[in-house]
This record gives sequence, structure tokens and C-alpha cells, in this order.
Amino acid sequence: MAEQITPRAKDYSQWYIDVVLQSRLADYAPVKGCMVIRPRGYALWEKMRERLDVMFKETGHQNAYFPLLIPESFLRKEAEHVEGFSPELAVVTHAGGEKLEEPLVVRPTSETIIWAMYKKWIQSWRDLPLLINQWANVVRWEKRTRLFLRTTEFLWQEGHTAHATAEEAQEETLRILMVYKKFAEEYMALPVLAGIKSESEKFAGAVRTYAIEGLMQDRKALQAGTSHNLGQNFAKAFEVTFQTKEGGLDHVWATSWGVSTRLVGALIMAHSDDRGLVLPPALAPTQVALVPIFTNKNKTEVLGYAGKLAARLRAAHTVELFDDDQSSPGWKFAEAELSGIPVRIEVGPRDMEKGQVVLVRRDTLEKIPVPEKETESRVKSLLDDIQAGLFHRALAFRKENTRRIDDYEEFRGFMEGDGGFAESGWCGDAACEAKIKDQTKATIRVLPLGREPPEDRRCVCCGEQAKEIAVFAKSY
Ligand SMILES: [Zn+2]
Repeated sequence: MAEQITPRAKDYSQWYIDVVLQSRLADYAPVKGCMVIRPRGYALWEKMRERLDVMFKETGHQNAYFPLLIPESFLRKEAEHVEGFSPELAVVTHAGGEKLEEPLVVRPTSETIIWAMYKKWIQSWRDLPLLINQWANVVRWEKRTRLFLRTTEFLWQEGHTAHATAEEAQEETLRILMVYKKFAEEYMALPVLAGIKSESEKFAGAVRTYAIEGLMQDRKALQAGTSHNLGQNFAKAFEVTFQTKEGGLDHVWATSWGVSTRLVGALIMAHSDDRGLVLPPALAPTQVALVPIFTNKNKTEVLGYAGKLAARLRAAHTVELFDDDQSSPGWKFAEAELSGIPVRIEVGPRDMEKGQVVLVRRDTLEKIPVPEKETESRVKSLLDDIQAGLFHRALAFRKENTRRIDDYEEFRGFMEGDGGFAESGWCGDAACEAKIKDQTKATIRVLPLGREPPEDRRCVCCGEQAKEIAVFAKSY
């Protein structure tokens, strides 16, 4: 039997760690801040990666791979970029038993090495757009780490695109933002707000940063993906110019965008419960846990029956058959719940007599007896119901925990209390943003896309006319 998972209501942070460790998604590595992704966690990441990879290819991107080591001088070429990343860099100074002439940086992100290569590959408008993605690991020397959510080394994808015009780069930035939103909502069952980041929260070297933000069960926000319009900043730093259609010479326009293994953390915190993981069927590595209930007397009969049922279900779903005779059914149920398998099927001698099986939903724990003949169709519709149910539950939770607030005392009370998303007027002044962060720990998560200008709204902090509606929250 698994150890006890700390209940969410008692200690949410400890609950999260317990779920990750006990469900065997990941473990702490010997180097502080690093994480070992165990087979179950990696299977989940692989499912995410497979789906996202299809979505990137459908939108015209190709995969490539750039090296892990970057000459230190490359990072210095873009002033904001080096300033933003310097505190987090891991630098190789010795190799092959000798001190290196130029230190090498372990990539914290790959803009600089990619743009050094793009300089060789781009000469004319005919070479554009260049739409490349890479799946890789990166290293950022973080002081405070948390499994999946913030680790020194993590896995991610980073897209880096080059375009002939500012408009095309902007379109690409938003196209990817929408790909991320669709992935989060349709596959992770996680409703997200899509919007633009304030100046203080944007990526180091970007003109504009867009992000998707989800609300976790402890009412803190989690940034789940970012898409940056880099303007001509990197093209200028790396002198990447091209012959325009009209015969002129211009700097190339750029975007970059990424999601990481942090998404696994988001998935856990959005849906899981005090029994362990709750996974959306679209991403669950195993969709069905089939648990035969037998004694020594009827073992052959029940296992034969369950084996046939498993074979039928495997035509459409991933199935784990819990057929060992070492552990009790109760242990198997708990194990299936801990690992977040969306549907459990129980089948015992009495069910066999009645010609039925019992389906159990992981999300609501509801038990549903169904005729054995209908198992396939009922499992399929149940998986669809669970996928939709998780999304709607998370959406309802977000609605309950989103409040329109323009009064500062109310805002402070909200953030000191349960918290959540506060939709507030903002004058656009970084000083108000900084004061709010200092006094309440809440930051602007996004300025949501497609909002009406806030004519009748006041800045929640200073009371001046609001220029924006900003969504504030405490965050991971
Ligand atoms: Zn203000």
C-alpha cells in the first residue's frame, strides 16, 4: 500500500510533492535542483510531445537540433538577453583537461546559437519564412526549485522562426499562442487565459511576450506557455539581413516560443486529488485499468475472461491488466487511482454470472455497472465524458475564483485571502505594478486579448484612468 498523501486542504505544496513522488512520476536527482523523470512521468511527457509535434508540423514547422554548448560571447550580443539570463547561466570553463580559451555556456535557451546559424542560411526573401522547432533540454541555475514546475535542467521545445515582415512575425506569434491554448484546453483539459505580458514580465530580448495562464487548485496562476515577438532585435544583434522582394536590404523579423515539462506540473495541479493523479484521457499513458477479482479457486476462469476483455479494449485504448496474484484487489484499486488511470474496470465471478462489468470513473469515483457486451462503447463514451468533465470542472473553478476588482483594499484582501484571478483596471504605469507586487505578491499574469478598452475603469492601485484591464494573481 502506498504511503499517505498529504491532503490538499492541509498542505497543498506537500500534497503536490507527495503525488509526484508516490505516483512515481519523478524523483530528486543527486545535483540539487535537478530531477529524474521516471518512466511514468516520461510517458506523460511523451504523450504531450507527440501531440504538440503534430500541431507544430500542421502549422508548417520542421524539427532540427542545435548544440547544447554556446560560445559565451554569443549571449553578450543581445544586451537585454544577456542581462536577463546571466544570473542563471551554467558555464563550462574547462574541457579535455584544459582551460578553454572562450568559456561555453550550457544553453538556457537557444536564440543566440540559432541566429548565428540563421545568418549563414538566410540571404534572400526566398529563404523566408524559416520555421524551425527543436525538442531539447536547457539549463537555468534556479535558486528555488520544485519538481516539474521549476528545475535547473528541464525538457522543452523551442520554436525559432524568421520572417520577411513585421506583420508575418506577429501573425506567427499569435498562431503559436493559439496552438498552445488549443493544446491546453483540448488535451490537458485546462482552461487558459491568453494574453500579452506587461513590459516587466516579458522575455529578455523580446518586443512583446504573449502567454497562456491557467489557474491551479490553490488559486495560484501558472504560466503554461509563452510566445515571443522578437522584432528585429536578434537579427540586428547577429547581423541577419536579407534581400527583399523589392530589391532592398532589411533585417529579418523573428519569433520564439516554448512549452516545457512544467506542463506536467500544471496537469497535476489542475486536476489531481487526495488519492493521487487524475489525468485527462487524451494524455493518460494508460486509459483503462482492468482489475480481475479472483480467488485461487476461480483464478483461471476469471483471468481468462479478463484477458479476452483486455484484448478487445486494446483495439482502441491503452489498457493495463492487473492480473498478478500477489496483491489484493484493494491494493490494485488504490494503485490505479494513484496513477490517474481514467477508467477502472472491475470484473469478478459475480459480474461474470450477471454478464456485466463495473466501470469506475477516476475523476468522480462513480461506479457504473454495464452489460459486458457494451463494454467497448461504454468505455469510449466514458473517456469522452471524463475529458469534457475535467475541462468544465476546471472552467467552473476558474469562474468561481475570478473577480472584477477596482478597489485597492478589496484587492489586497482578495490576495491575502483565498486569492484567484483579479480582473482590475491598470493605468499602465510600472510603478503601480511594482507596488502591487511588493504589497500583495500578485503580478500581472496577462493583459487578455480581445478586451474592450476600459473607458469606465480606474487603476486599482492609483485610481487614475485605466489604460488596460489586467489579470492579476499570485503565481508559480
Ligand atoms: Zn496606476
